[in-house]
Amino acid sequence: MKNRTHNNGELRISDIGKNVHLIGWVAKKRNLGSIVFIDLRDRYGYTQILINEENDVVKSIKSEYLIEVDGVVEKRSAPNPSLPTGEIEVVAKVINIINTSKQPPFLIQDDTDALEDTRLKYRYLDLRRPKMQNYLFIRHQICKATRSYLEPLDFVEIETPVLTLSSPEGARDYLVPSRIKKGSFYALPQSPQIFKQLLMVSGFERYFQIVRCFRDEDLRADRQPDFTQIDIETSFLSQDEILSLLEGLIAHIFKEVIHYEVKLPLRRLPYKEAIARFGSDKPDTRFAMELIDLDFLKNSDSPDAFKNSESIVGLVIKNQANNISRKVLDELNLTARKFNIHSFIAIKYLNQTLEGSFLKYFNDDLQKELLNKVNMEENDILLLANGKYRDAHFALGAIRSLYGKKLNLIPQGSHDLLYIIDFPLFQEDGNGGYVSEHHPFTRPRDEDLKYLDSDPLKVYGSCYDMVIDGYETLSGSLRIYDQNVQKKIFEILGLSDEQVRAKFGYFIDALQYGTPPHGGGAFGLDRLTMILSGTENIRDVIAFPKNLSATCPMTNAPMPVDDAQLEELGIKVIKKED
Ligand code: ASP
Repeated sequence: MKNRTHNNGELRISDIGKNVHLIGWVAKKRNLGSIVFIDLRDRYGYTQILINEENDVVKSIKSEYLIEVDGVVEKRSAPNPSLPTGEIEVVAKVINIINTSKQPPFLIQDDTDALEDTRLKYRYLDLRRPKMQNYLFIRHQICKATRSYLEPLDFVEIETPVLTLSSPEGARDYLVPSRIKKGSFYALPQSPQIFKQLLMVSGFERYFQIVRCFRDEDLRADRQPDFTQIDIETSFLSQDEILSLLEGLIAHIFKEVIHYEVKLPLRRLPYKEAIARFGSDKPDTRFAMELIDLDFLKNSDSPDAFKNSESIVGLVIKNQANNISRKVLDELNLTARKFNIHSFIAIKYLNQTLEGSFLKYFNDDLQKELLNKVNMEENDILLLANGKYRDAHFALGAIRSLYGKKLNLIPQGSHDLLYIIDFPLFQEDGNGGYVSEHHPFTRPRDEDLKYLDSDPLKVYGSCYDMVIDGYETLSGSLRIYDQNVQKKIFEILGLSDEQVRAKFGYFIDALQYGTPPHGGGAFGLDRLTMILSGTENIRDVIAFPKNLSATCPMTNAPMPVDDAQLEELGIKVIKKED
């Protein structure tokens, strides 16, 4: 094999007459009788090869063979404007096969109808598709832009352990058994949270890491068991200073990677307002369609379950009354009911009148007030949900997102970035206890410290999320740096002194050595890559992802292991899944 003179995306009209040597995979071979065309592919693009004489070597060439071509660049008689090399072709003098290929299980081209599991099984072939390569190039550009932004600001890139103790971020841990200490387990980090805080105790002041995190959760289109964070921590900065640093980074990334100008500062929407207006703590704000507070309907003659509910909220979908059939309403009802609401009601506005069986409970005045409030026009439909405040709002928030997409309300190529701030520190766990809304290391707002003992749900945290196009893309907070407050939080979360000692003793100890005030956050690299690449499938932006059953169809991981290996680890499997 000779070195190539050019790659396959490089040759232009100005190269006509040059002798070149190209290497690439055979994307397509077309035999037109007296001449043969080959589209040669590498990561840089395609070049058309023209062969005037078909010898035995050329005859034997098939798709995905790796070949080398000696030839001369000539002007194409039928240019292809969709290819950067479309004005030229290389007329072959000598062709050699470097390596043959089995017939691939699917055509290697951008548009494929191959099943995703087949693509994942042959991922190395799937990744030959230019579209897939582009996703990974974008991912690489994001990492590069991250480093070029943080480096001049004195950030240090430091690695933290993968075999460690549990770091609570609200998910189940992946565990790794220890051979040396049988019966003991490492946990794979859900994030480097505690370690990065310890690096602040050590005095590094500014840390970052592009780091793999592991969470054993139910998978969704935007979730993977192992995923990557751009993890950041700083000392001595206020929340506002941290927010401007993080938005500066994201604006730099958007500019470098997709040449998109993000307007700074990002707006900051309090959590309460996000729920009230959009029914979500990660609203897609690229379209309007806001929720409407309809608590005044509690004054109706409606059944008790309606009028006594904590919250009644509405959502108007414009110009859809005629399209939303009984069947569609049943589907929407199912979506809404996942949020434990009391009832889901539809009222249409047709022929200038409100229509719907529930209207019998609203007298004329109330109906007028309703029309006034929701501002309905012909063919609009109003959906009502009632129940607990959060449930009713989240239910309609889910329908809002659905219809934003369905009605194409999102302008193509547009992005909207904002911060959600002022989250509650805790949520009820449904069993009379509390769980952290963010994580246990989030600092309560100073003004709310007084409620820690009496009413934890009244305490708000100094924490923030960055939401981009409806995705939670960053989450972060100021951290507790006082060991007594930290102990108190663990206590509210229901951990006994012994549990705190066993799980976090080393951390509580560290907080006693002059810990600086600190805070930071972590961007989800996978989600960010999805947004910048315009795909809605997280697996597209990960080289070797797992499928929705958390399995890798290529390696077949996870797999059972030999009895001898189990023995060595002191483990006995009591139940095997097929
Ligand atoms: N550990 C992150 C933080 O900086 C948050 C996260 O992983 O979601 O707060």
